[in-house]
Amino acid sequence: MKQISPKNLFYFIVVLFPAIVLVSILLYTKSQGHVRINLALLGFGISFVTSALIFILVNVFVLKKINALLDTVKKYRASSDNPSSNPNYSSNEIHNLDLEINAWADDRKEEIERLKKLEVYRKEFLGNVSHELKTPIFNIQGYVLTLLDGGLEDPSINRNYLERAEKSIDRMITIVDDLEAISQLETGELQIEPERFDIFTLAKDVADAQEMKATAKGIILTLPEDSKPIFVFADRFRIRQVLVNLIVNSVKYGKEYGETKIRFYDVGENVMVEIADNGIGIEKEHLPRLFERFYRVDKSRSREQGGTGLGLAIVKHIIEAHNQSINVMSTEGAGTVFSFSLKKA
Ligand code: ADP
Repeated sequence: MKQISPKNLFYFIVVLFPAIVLVSILLYTKSQGHVRINLALLGFGISFVTSALIFILVNVFVLKKINALLDTVKKYRASSDNPSSNPNYSSNEIHNLDLEINAWADDRKEEIERLKKLEVYRKEFLGNVSHELKTPIFNIQGYVLTLLDGGLEDPSINRNYLERAEKSIDRMITIVDDLEAISQLETGELQIEPERFDIFTLAKDVADAQEMKATAKGIILTLPEDSKPIFVFADRFRIRQVLVNLIVNSVKYGKEYGETKIRFYDVGENVMVEIADNGIGIEKEHLPRLFERFYRVDKSRSREQGGTGLGLAIVKHIIEAHNQSINVMSTEGAGTVFSFSLKKA
């Protein structure tokens, strides 16, 4: 039920109270004639002035305070991270205050839920980071201890163990580099510096650089034969990283003697870049979470291939920082297609 506004209530009292006084005097006074009417009018006048004065005082002190409170709550709500839209205000100040406080409480509730989620995310992230770093650290410790325990003098293992320790150090560097990239992207510290460049040549450079790894697995990396420049407006350095991560993945999770095709499509204002492999593919249920930090379909396979589980999260951040989008389509056992858009230049 809509409450009566304080103002309406006061108007009502200002009229009702003097009216009651007037009627009471007329009914119950013993005086007659003019005296009775004068008395009734005097009573009406005094009670009208009194209630009007009370009304003015209440208006000045109480309603002003309510309005000030309403303004304060409005300001607090507006300054929160994601304020909801304004409720439907009426002419009733108390009702408005009630609406505003409820809207504020709802916003707070959402904020608390968001912070709780962030806290879970943070804990998970820390757990993942320490888990990822533990393996290479323990490996290095194992090799060093064996070398100190006499292995250093044993020519059959000393060089081999040092080389293995170096591999673990390389892995730690990769993890730390990826973590640095992701934290810079997530805090918005990393500014995108767009420029006009030819994405075809960049993709060809990246594919050439990965050719040795691909050939070791019998995988062919192909680009369109017409090899004409395709100009885009983007951060060249960051897009190189995107291409490296996607092409490296297509080889890591590609099948032996398979193929990775890099293709370009003209889509209105954008160019669509596609990296398609005919590798192991990804089960449908994993696709929605694929771009999350540390998400892997097959953990041991990823680690065995030197993966950190951060590559696709980095790729998504970079593409989104360009206000563009990335998609994945995959069929288990048949292959995977990643496609992202870039602004034409
Ligand atoms: P990782 O370092 O483990 O490769 P990414 O973030 O690059 O991490 O990829 C996340 C997961 O997505 C991988 O562990 C892998 O399971 C899956 N994945 C990525 N690219 C492909 C692909 N081309 N084919 C099949 N699975 C892929």
